[in-house]
Amino acid sequence: MESLRLNAMAKINLGLDVLRRREDGYHEVKMVMQTVGICDELEFTKLTEDCIRISTDKEELPSDGNNLIYRAAKLMKDTYGIREGVAVKLQKNIPIAAGMAGGSTDAAATIHGMDRIFGLGLSLEEKQRLGVKIGADVPYCLMGGTALSEGIGEVLTALPQAPDAFLVVAKPDINVSTKFVYENLHADRLTYHPDIDGMVESIRNGDLKGITDRMGNVLETVTIKRYPVIAEMKAFLLRQGAMNALMSGSGPTVFGVFDKEEDARRAYTAMVEQGNFTKQVFLTKLI
Ligand code: ATP
Repeated sequence: MESLRLNAMAKINLGLDVLRRREDGYHEVKMVMQTVGICDELEFTKLTEDCIRISTDKEELPSDGNNLIYRAAKLMKDTYGIREGVAVKLQKNIPIAAGMAGGSTDAAATIHGMDRIFGLGLSLEEKQRLGVKIGADVPYCLMGGTALSEGIGEVLTALPQAPDAFLVVAKPDINVSTKFVYENLHADRLTYHPDIDGMVESIRNGDLKGITDRMGNVLETVTIKRYPVIAEMKAFLLRQGAMNALMSGSGPTVFGVFDKEEDARRAYTAMVEQGNFTKQVFLTKLI
């Protein structure tokens, strides 16, 4: 196989709890991860030269060793002694620095892509062991779907597919660094913890209301304090009839969940027409 196209899917967090800060500075989390229908498109081409070439349609993204695609490709080449090279063309559709694992999902797609074009035949577990070296969310991105994520994000339990639901996803025009959010989180002073176990139970029961009633993200305490527009966007989505609305990951992306597609479409149109919050608004669904 000389070339291959893959979609790299974005995620949201239906629930995100932080249990504690470990001695080594990492945070122990308990999160419900969910794939949504927004994706980057990657095209992999095998090269005879021993090199890694990345091109993207977004000027602000690095195309050198700082791109997670590069780091994933280098790790695959080094680990499996691949002497040939790879060119990766990225069409970036997932909002950047948004809390939607855009970089991690590109790294995951690169691991899948190189496995295929170089005929390595790796198992999912082998790919996940490599992926965690790039980032804590990469092992989840390699599997996708609905999953419970624990540890620092690398201990994964696949869950049954969540019930059908429609989403309005919107990223305000601010960039939030994940590092800033975790550095400013006081895990020992949190007064509220979302009911992640109850959410998992609701997913197992196919109970969408049970899921949306338990949506919560402790990182909102940091990000919303800094950027109140996130709370305004959540309130807007709730006024438009969302069952619930939440910030994803470390933010600033906000999503509203709807059980009917026409309600989601109406809310999407209202947010686009409102125009002040952001131009990055998506109508999508749980995958
Ligand atoms: P997460 O949900 O995992 O915290 P995020 O959505 O907050 O991720 P990303 O979009 O993954 O953040 O990117 C964060 C930073 O990583 C960007 O500022 C960007 O410069 C860098 N980066 C490196 N490679 C990529 C890539 N392939 N796609 C997006 N960002 C990348």
